Amino acid sequence: MDGATDSLTRTVNVILLGPPGAGKGTQAEILVKDLGMVQLSTGDMLREAKDSGTEMGKRVAEVMARGELVTDEIVIGLIEEKLTSVKANGFIFDGFPRTLAQADALNALLEKTGQTLDVVIELQVNDEILVERIVGRAEQAKAAGKPVRADDNEESLKFRLMEYYKKTAPLIGYYHAKGNLQHVDAMGAIDSIAGDLSAIVKTATA
Ligand code: AMP
Repeated sequence: MDGATDSLTRTVNVILLGPPGAGKGTQAEILVKDLGMVQLSTGDMLREAKDSGTEMGKRVAEVMARGELVTDEIVIGLIEEKLTSVKANGFIFDGFPRTLAQADALNALLEKTGQTLDVVIELQVNDEILVERIVGRAEQAKAAGKPVRADDNEESLKFRLMEYYKKTAPLIGYYHAKGNLQHVDAMGAIDSIAGDLSAIVKTATA
């Protein structure tokens, strides 16, 4: 909650859904800062495991570098650990769920922990812009002397996009059918997209 410039009237759990490069991580960080929510990024958790050299981290490193999805079992385990140990006035799921099995597991975990899923927001971006953003992110990191993500290159990105369309995009229909899907045009300026997301989240708590 520290540093939040605004507040929520009740707990709200949000999924940010979208392809690699859609801006899920960037927007999740803004929601954390502005609304005091807690970001749960399975990509960040897996990278931490890889960097700290845990057995699981070593197992997933190559799969991630190729741009493939790691197993449902691993990521569901990571989310379960957080949901049962972290208290928050709202979670932002960033990069999870990515398969129908993960979506079903999330429903079960939220039910088990007495929580609800309030809104799923699809960030819509054209493929050409995704490629530009990812390649740009790698170039910026390199220029700043920071480590470049092993999967931020055109070859891995092709795989990541394929994984997204094959395994994650079906979740759009799944959440539409459940009645909690919203869309945001995520091709404009970061601040204006953040404003749209914040308005959706606040409406969900009203
Ligand atoms: P991200 O940081 O969300 O772009 O994720 C980077 C990589 O981590 C993905 O390309 C996958 O290899 C892996 N990953 C992250 N989240 C998941 C997930 N929910 N299911 C499977 N693999 C994941």
